Amino acid sequence: MSFQIALDGPSGAGKSTVAKALAAKMNLIYVDTGALYRAIGLYTQRKGVDPRNAVGVENLLPEISLELRYDADGTQQVYLNGEATGNQIRTPEISMYASAVSAIPAVRAFLLDTQRRIAEKNDVVMDGRDIGTVILPNANVKIFLTANDECRAKRRWLELKEKGMEPSYESVLEDMRRRDHNDSTRTIAPAVAAPDAVLLDSSDLTIDECVAKIETIALSKRKK
Ligand code: C5P
Repeated sequence: MSFQIALDGPSGAGKSTVAKALAAKMNLIYVDTGALYRAIGLYTQRKGVDPRNAVGVENLLPEISLELRYDADGTQQVYLNGEATGNQIRTPEISMYASAVSAIPAVRAFLLDTQRRIAEKNDVVMDGRDIGTVILPNANVKIFLTANDECRAKRRWLELKEKGMEPSYESVLEDMRRRDHNDSTRTIAPAVAAPDAVLLDSSDLTIDECVAKIETIALSKRKK
């Protein structure tokens, strides 16, 4: 059986950075599941469909084919109907689209198999919101990574700046709080910790410290 680490938590908690480093150290495939929701958000936006219109978004799903490919250095790229999505899925606008479409049950059902299939065939660290609760309920390790709002907004703001975008810190904080609220209060697969997840607050930890803590937990499970 494959070895599975489920890494859930709100946006900006450091999941993707931690997961990438952990994947490299432990020879795992890093699966960024948020990118799948973002790709559906991008398609919805391109088609001019309101992302809160469940029927409208559901009707688009048969037109969507998603594929995950990995570069030699392990970087994940989502292909939307054969097109590499790149940074187009990383804008604040597409973040909101992703958050809205992710609350639609048909969207979550559409992405369920894609995620499970990858984790069955490969040793993975999978980053998302419902990995430990819904997608991989039997994962070997479950971590719920959090950090306080200001800390997460600052990280997200720096990340966007690095990508050449120039949002204000306040708008990033506000968007993040709105998205957190949507994600944690939606009726389907809300972003909450699994009862058997280890809670890790990254506010006062460096990336390396987070990675080391998770690696210690994972190594103890891998031995069993
Ligand atoms: O992780 P990321 O910020 O890229 O995710 C974008 C959005 O996709 C989140 O705000 C959340 O609404 C949704 N998402 C989800 N379940 C996941 C991963 C992401 O609902 N497993």
